[in-house]
Amino acid sequence: MFMQVADRIYMLSTNSSGKFPSSFCFYIDDEKKALIDTPLDRSFPDLLQERRVDLIINSHFHRDHTGCNDLFPEATILAHPLDIPAMESLDEFCYYYGFHHYGNSELRDGLVKWIGYRPCRVDQPIEDGEIINLGKTKLEVIHTPGHSPGHCVFFDRAHGILFSADIDLTSFGPWYGNWTSDVDDMIDSITKIIKLKPEIILSSHKGLIQNNVTAKLKQYLQRIYENENRILEVLAQPTNIDQLTEKKIIYGKWYEPTIIFEYFERLSLIVHLRRLLKKGMVKQIGEDYIRTTSFTHSCK
Ligand SMILES: [Zn+2]
Ligand SMILES: [Zn+2]
Repeated sequence: MFMQVADRIYMLSTNSSGKFPSSFCFYIDDEKKALIDTPLDRSFPDLLQERRVDLIINSHFHRDHTGCNDLFPEATILAHPLDIPAMESLDEFCYYYGFHHYGNSELRDGLVKWIGYRPCRVDQPIEDGEIINLGKTKLEVIHTPGHSPGHCVFFDRAHGILFSADIDLTSFGPWYGNWTSDVDDMIDSITKIIKLKPEIILSSHKGLIQNNVTAKLKQYLQRIYENENRILEVLAQPTNIDQLTEKKIIYGKWYEPTIIFEYFERLSLIVHLRRLLKKGMVKQIGEDYIRTTSFTHSCK
C-alpha cells in the first residue's frame, strides 16, 4: 500500500491492516524526503519504487519501526537518545525488553529471531521540542515516553497532523509490556497529546484517524485506569505475580503462542505494580501484593 493521506504525506504498508508485527510507515515527499519508521518486512523498499529517502525518523526502537533501517544506507537516521542503546546493541535490546529479569533464554532467542534483530546505527539524536525542517513541512518532536523510554511522536502543527507512532489507539493499547516501559510516563504522554488537539492522527498500527480524535485519545487513556481498577480488585486478597498474571487482566485472552502473551502480560503487570507501589496504593508482603486503598477510578 502506498496511499496519499495529506499534502505530501503518504502512508505505506506491506500489509493493509498495519496490525503488529506489521506497521504503517509514512513517507513525506518534501524538499527533504523523509520516512517515519521502517517496518519488519524486508520487501518494504519495493513500495517506494526507488523514491529518494534522505532521512529516516524513528519513533522508537521496536523492530516493527526500525526493521528495514539498514536497507537505506544513504539515509540519515534520527532517534531519541533514550532508545538508541536498544537500537545499537542486542544486549541493551534484551535489557529493554526485560529478558535479563524474567525471560527464559528459549523465549528470548525465539523472540529475537522472530523480530529479526539487527543492530542499526543512529546518525543524529533528536530531542523534545526540536523542529525537523523538511522544507514546507516542519515536524515538531514531542518526547512521549511510556511505551519505551525514548518514544517520540511528530507534530505537523500547521496542519494539525500528528504522527502518533505506538500511541496507536488500537484495542491492544496503551501497551507498556517492556521492562523499560512506564505507566506514569504513558499517562503523561497521552495527556500531552490530548493538549496538542491534533485534528488528524496517523497511527503506526491503525492508520488514518480523523474523526473524534480527542474523544478517542481520552478513551485510550481511560483504559490504563480500567486496567488499574481490575488489578486493585484482585489485590483485595494477597496475590503473587504468578496468580495475578493468570487473571489475564491486560490481554483478556492469550493467543498462540501463549508463552509470548504470558510473558508480556507479566511484564505489563510488573510495570503497573511499580506505579501502584510508588503511589502507596499497593504494598508488598513477601511475594504477595495487596492493596492498601479501596479507591478505584471512576471509568465510564
Ligand atoms: Zn512499539
Ligand atoms: Zn509498533
